[in-house]
Amino acid sequence: MAITTPRWHELADHVLDGGVVTAADALAVLRSPDSELMEVVAAASRLRFQHFGNKVKVNYLVNLKSGLCPEDCFYCSQRLNSTAGILRYTWLNTEEAVTAAKAGIAAGASRVCLVASGTGPSNREVGKVSDIIEAIKSDTPGVEVCACLGALKDGQAEKLCSSGADAYNHNLNTAESHYEDICTTHTYADREHTVAQAHGAGLSACSGFIAGMGETHDQLVELAFDLRAKDVDSIPVNFLLPFDGTPLEGVDTLNPRDCLRILAMVRFVAPDTEIRMAAGRERHLGYLQGMGLYVANSLFLGDYLTSEGQPGGEDLQMIADAGLEVLQMDHPAGDTGDGTVEAATANAPANAAGPATPAVATGRDQKVAIRTRGAGTSEPANA
Ligand code: SF4
Repeated sequence: MAITTPRWHELADHVLDGGVVTAADALAVLRSPDSELMEVVAAASRLRFQHFGNKVKVNYLVNLKSGLCPEDCFYCSQRLNSTAGILRYTWLNTEEAVTAAKAGIAAGASRVCLVASGTGPSNREVGKVSDIIEAIKSDTPGVEVCACLGALKDGQAEKLCSSGADAYNHNLNTAESHYEDICTTHTYADREHTVAQAHGAGLSACSGFIAGMGETHDQLVELAFDLRAKDVDSIPVNFLLPFDGTPLEGVDTLNPRDCLRILAMVRFVAPDTEIRMAAGRERHLGYLQGMGLYVANSLFLGDYLTSEGQPGGEDLQMIADAGLEVLQMDHPAGDTGDGTVEAATANAPANAAGPATPAVATGRDQKVAIRTRGAGTSEPANA
């Protein structure tokens, strides 16, 4: 059933009845007029509430190793020859990583994402990350841990899985037909291979993309359908942060309504998949960020890998203002196993005990705000 007319609730009915949208339907969502935007969001939100209720999954990024990557992904501030003024550091040790993770967990995150720049890890580095995962899990058994370490070699996904990792993130980033325009040092097929390895090892597959890198509407749809075909469990939707000192410096093709349409398109294509508002949401969704939560059911709290997000407390307030609730983990830190929690920190307001976090500039004419706090620094994290 191809629906190319703006009957968005009929399209939602079709999906709620077990149907799937066509590429033409998805394209129509992306090309819908502003006058129908609220209907598009309302229809997509029915799918979101059907599968995720009023819960928002809060994720927290820990950048274990920043910059110094030999790959040349054009969008990335950590790429080869990047002159972006980002933090550059080698591996955090286990204690530093656990401390960083705890900041996010204390603010309500039920998933910690351990990320390292680079082509892919050595076996020794996988061992290092496995130690960190075990330490985090020992401290907070209920927290999910996702690793994001680049391309994996045989056996590495299994090693991460055995150390307690729940998920592996490896973004496809853009459509296969656009991939050569955003990277020359590896291929789309390389990325697909790692997603398959993670899946094959029993890890939950997390894979998403970055919108706003010169792709066409058709290519966004192509990518969404590929992610659906790969049966990934979560899709981070990033909006390009055009860092100075990268090839995509100054590229600014998105507006807030486009970003909502992109989230809605992905929701229609993958209705029961976790869709995460990721980097660039503050800049590109702007005042429509909160509305994005009626379509997406997940976000990153606080700062990103190399850029600043809005204060973590504002993320939590945005969730509350939308009438939504943070998804709680099953066994938070201090859980005695008898239903009581000794240290009830999971919903503590962010920055409650720390210094006030200055608001990040959200305007699209502003330079990307570089992260200068949290992991890899002596400054308190934005969580
Ligand atoms: S996206 Fe990953 S692989 Fe590509 S340049 Fe950045 S850190 Fe390296």
